[in-house]
Parts: sequence; structure tokens; C-alpha cells
Amino acid sequence: MILLDGKKVSKEIIADLKERRKKINDNVKLAIIWVGNNPASEIYINNKKKQCAKINVLCDVYHLEEDTKENEVLELIDKLNNDNTVTGILVQSPLPNGIDEIKCFNKIDSKKDIDGFSNISVGNLYLGSPKLVSCTPKGVVRLLEYYGIDLEGKNVCLINRSNIVGKPLFHLLISKNATVTMCHSKTRNLKDITKNADIIISAVGKPNFLTVDMVKDGAIIVDVGISRVDGKVLGDVDFNNVSEKASYITPVPGGVGPMTIAMILENILIAKEDNNG
Ligand code: NAP
Repeated sequence: MILLDGKKVSKEIIADLKERRKKINDNVKLAIIWVGNNPASEIYINNKKKQCAKINVLCDVYHLEEDTKENEVLELIDKLNNDNTVTGILVQSPLPNGIDEIKCFNKIDSKKDIDGFSNISVGNLYLGSPKLVSCTPKGVVRLLEYYGIDLEGKNVCLINRSNIVGKPLFHLLISKNATVTMCHSKTRNLKDITKNADIIISAVGKPNFLTVDMVKDGAIIVDVGISRVDGKVLGDVDFNNVSEKASYITPVPGGVGPMTIAMILENILIAKEDNNG
């Protein structure tokens, strides 16, 4: 079994990005909009700030009160869209009730849409000419490619259909000629599908969801799930047992998570380079 070591791969990618950043003779700045006080968001934002600093990207956090109105968030996005010193914009999810997340994502100028969640970015991906692609799906594909895993013709079972993971990942995978079965909570006989898959990508958010009896010998396992149990971060996969059968497997933590961060940094530089050019 080979570990798909996202921590190691992301370090290499970030080292390359640091060099790429040096060739840009200008400030590069990420603006993060954080509404409310979700503690998990705070951890994610602090990490993004730390990672940006590693490659000399400025990071401004706009922290708004929990009771901020939707139109105030939209106005702030508009202001940042028109600010030439801002390279990229992220709206930290989840937003408080009463603020329509999709409206906010769509307000972001597609040239600054680091998460790739706006309708224009999604449309570009759907049409096969992506510019800024959602970071977790992009990180998953990059990790597989790093290990020389050819997606062409592979049967991939993708367990997730969300806008941020499953749907963009589906498009990336079919663009690489994989055959993708997209599963969700209403899928019947999931095990019949997973058992036949060359690659299983699980993003459910339930610890020990993917068990060894669901996996064929030699399968490649990508665990996107993140759950926090008693202060520990767990994925979806029963790692100890599944790793005995898998040919490649991601750990959690240290698999897809660090790849997501690396792809955020990459998208910021792509946004800067594209807008310069
Ligand atoms: P989500 O919107 O809740 O999606 C969960 C998906 O799992 C849905 O498609 C859901 O189906 C499906 N599902 C739930 N129970 C199932 C079951 N019993 N059988 C089959 N499918 C089932 O969450 P998300 O935002 O996409 O995130 C998914 C997980 O990935 C979470 O744990 C999240 O923390 C993690 N995540 C990790 C990263 C990273 O960087 N590592 C980034 C983003 C997300 P329905 O559509 O029918 O509800």
C-alpha cells in the first residue's frame, strides 16, 4: 500500500509557488470575508493567513458581525471586486442564516474567484475550459496525478454531490476520461458500486463510513471527509482495515486537506498572473 501523502506533495507545490511568486513584481493580496464567529472558520482562516505568508501573499480578513445583512456582504464583495490591490476574494463558509451563500459567490468577480464557486467559474468548468477551479477537487486530482495514477478509463465511485466537492470533482474527473458514478444519500446498494470501483473518493463526513467490505482488492482510496471526534480529526474511511486492501490511500489528516490549501495558493497566483497578462 502506498500512502497518498498530501502533506509532502503540498510542501513541494508550495515551494514551487514561492518561486513563482518571486517572478511577480507586485503585491499579491487575498481578501477573506468572514461573517459571524464560527470557531472552525477561525481555524481555517488563520491557517490560510499563515500559508499565504509563506509565499509572500498578503491576506486581509474582513470580519463582520453575525447579524450583518446580506446586502452589506454583497456591497463589500463589490468594493473588493473594484479594488485593484485585491487579487483574490474568498467568502468563508458557512455564512449565518439569512445570507444566501450562492448569491455571495456569484457576486465575486470571476477573475478573483479563488474558490471557483461562482456561476461563471462553474460554467467554465462545465464547458471544459476552467480557469479558477474549486480547490479541494483540484487538490484531489493533483494528488492522484502526482503519484502517476492515470484516470483514463478508470471506474471512479464518488460519494458526494455537493457544489463544493462532488459536482466540480465530477467534471474534473470526466475531463480526464474517468468513468464516474456519483453517489449520495439516496443511492441504493452503494456497496455494489464501491466494490466495482478502481478509485473511491469519499466525502461524506461520517467516520468509518467506508469499511473494508466495500472495497475491492487494490482499489485507490481518497478520503475527503473531515469529522472532529473528541478533539481528533477523522476521515470517512476505516483506515486501518481498508489500507490492508488498498493499493493507494490518503491519510486523514495529511491527505486532501493540505492539498486544498496548496490549491488556494496556486489559484491566487493564477488570478494575479492572468490579470497581469
Ligand atoms: P455535504 O454537503 O454535507 O455533502 C455530504 C455528501 O455526502 C452529500 O452528497 C450527501 O448526500 C452524502 N451522503 C451523506 N450520507 C450518505 C450516505 N449514507 N450514503 C451516501 N452518501 C451520503 O458536505 P461537503 O461540504 O460536500 O463536505 C463533505 C465532507 O468533506 C465533509 O466532511 C467536509 O468536512 C469535508 N471537506 C473536506 C475538505 C478538505 O479540504 N479535506 C474540503 C471540503 C470538505 P446528499 O447530497 O443526498 O445529502
